[in-house]
Amino acid sequence: MAQKITIYHLYPDAMNLYGDLGNVISIVKRCQWRGIEAEVVDVHVGDRADFTKADLVFMGGGQDSGQKIVNADLLEKGPAIKEQIDEGMPALLICGGFQLFGNYFKTADGTEIPGIGVFDAFTVAGSKRLIGNVVIDIAHLLSVWQREFKNTPLISGHTTLVGFENHSGQTMLAPGTQPLGYVIRGLGNKGDGGYEGAIYKNAFGSYLHGSLLPKNPWLTDHLIRCALLRRYGEVLPLSELDDTIEIAAHDAAIKRSETAKTVSI
Ligand code: GLN
Repeated sequence: MAQKITIYHLYPDAMNLYGDLGNVISIVKRCQWRGIEAEVVDVHVGDRADFTKADLVFMGGGQDSGQKIVNADLLEKGPAIKEQIDEGMPALLICGGFQLFGNYFKTADGTEIPGIGVFDAFTVAGSKRLIGNVVIDIAHLLSVWQREFKNTPLISGHTTLVGFENHSGQTMLAPGTQPLGYVIRGLGNKGDGGYEGAIYKNAFGSYLHGSLLPKNPWLTDHLIRCALLRRYGEVLPLSELDDTIEIAAHDAAIKRSETAKTVSI
């Protein structure tokens, strides 16, 4: 019987910036190309959602106004989401989604939007927007993933993630909270070129839009492996795909980051 995963896409209308939907498409396609069924359940404000049925949760970025629209509903769903993340459910949260999975986001107008506290982190809007191409180093994660999923080769020798950031919020991680990666080019969580994103168990928060996953298939495949592990208790090696185009897109983004200017406005 074909394997199947179910992806819960939180707030696809209010929280979807700079191609974030491409992350969901990328997960679905890389499953389908391997004969794995992938169902997407869109979760809107007011919808009932049983997160015990989700194998992976995704939430994209949004304007401050979008974050305020979804906030009360997310706080209601938060404990159920966190419970599943604590049990190993993978999740990908981009930018505004990442901020709301932290403790709070204080916007430029002084409003404090509470988060669901998956990441021990908080975000405060700075005086400037942080915009530009980003390259981060995730070499430290790859060796951990390789150990976790024995016999499962990672694609190519790439140890970076590439994307595009555009945020007012600056995100501080509490001591002990692990970042997703370390900025090679771009601004990152605090705008200082230090760390980027956050990790809690199999939940990954990041400022990288672009979309992130189509250009970074090693992260996509890791999320798929985590989702399969959650559902089936074991993961057979994923079949290899021809990633010529994905790798070319990744490398082109790195090249562009060498010349394109990062701006703070
Ligand atoms: N509104 C948030 C900020 O400006 C998130 C933006 C985003 O998701 N791109 O920081």
